[in-house]
Amino acid sequence: MDMSNPFISRFETGSGAEIFQIPVQAFPGFWVNVYLVLADPYIVLIDTASGFGDANDKLSAGITSLHSRRGETVRLENLTHILLTHAHIDHFGGLPFLSESSNAQLGVHDLDWRIVSNYEETLSLISRRLEVFFTEAGVSAERRAKLMELYRINKNLYHSVEVNFTYQTENMRLGPFEMLHVPGHTAGHVLIRLDDCVFTGDHILGDISPHQAPEQLTLSTGLAHYLESLEIAREWVESARLVLPGHKKEITNASSRIDLIKEVHFQRLAQVFACCGQPTTIQQVSRQLFANVSGYNVLLALEEAGAHIEYLHQRGYLRITNVDEVESAECPLPVLYQQARNFTEQPN
Ligand SMILES: [Zn+2]
Ligand SMILES: [Zn+2]
Repeated sequence: MDMSNPFISRFETGSGAEIFQIPVQAFPGFWVNVYLVLADPYIVLIDTASGFGDANDKLSAGITSLHSRRGETVRLENLTHILLTHAHIDHFGGLPFLSESSNAQLGVHDLDWRIVSNYEETLSLISRRLEVFFTEAGVSAERRAKLMELYRINKNLYHSVEVNFTYQTENMRLGPFEMLHVPGHTAGHVLIRLDDCVFTGDHILGDISPHQAPEQLTLSTGLAHYLESLEIAREWVESARLVLPGHKKEITNASSRIDLIKEVHFQRLAQVFACCGQPTTIQQVSRQLFANVSGYNVLLALEEAGAHIEYLHQRGYLRITNVDEVESAECPLPVLYQQARNFTEQPN
């Protein structure tokens, strides 16, 4: 099959709908998948890449290269819908560009709606919560300023766009497309099913365990919701013939991926618990878990450690040893966690 973009893969569902996987570099060295789906009369884009650097151009070029092979239907102007799996910038940052170059109706889950359509508000809220989180995690003021700058850097490229419909208000359907709510990685993450094919976004990935952040930053995220949602997803991915993730290649063993991802988190919970033999901050735990990270990954590592501490603390496996000091201080202070009761949970 001749396609001018050698990275584009073509799939077909049981009833003959065509799917083109278009990998786009979202940030330097970091690729994300956009899917163009032709399910007559629907011409749908699932996710949009980041809008960063040349991502919009590369996405357009990918679609144009399909156009020359497939004919008139495949043009940005002809898109009928854009469906988001979840509101992370690497998946929706291309929206300002796409809303100008197409008339597609944009859909997102209700719990991620605010991020896409009122981004400025979300950014200021989350920035504030992140500052408090970093302070309580034991990150110094100087390092905090650097992390906050990193957090905002790519995000200021986006501006809010109008959402045309939300999934819950449409009973989790659009024509032949069905959505399944799997909160955790984001509050409004969904799987999207078309015939015997399931798009998993970042809920299930083939090579890594998807990123977790503590729920104190955003309601309906956090590790406990995520673990529950892995089980919610199991039936859909087990019965699918084709499982297409938001990053990298198709997943061939989705059910065992779910088991493995759960195992990773329970091992990590045990590791975090073991780190807390003495009073310990989230930053100290993060450094023990992820020793050699730099740049934006420092932020991700702190969130990942924070999500695991939050899980353990909420269930009483950890207690806060400096609670009086934290309570009486006028501004947030580093919080110290220590083992309180034995952690013996296993993936079930
Ligand atoms: Zn994501
Ligand atoms: Zn992603």
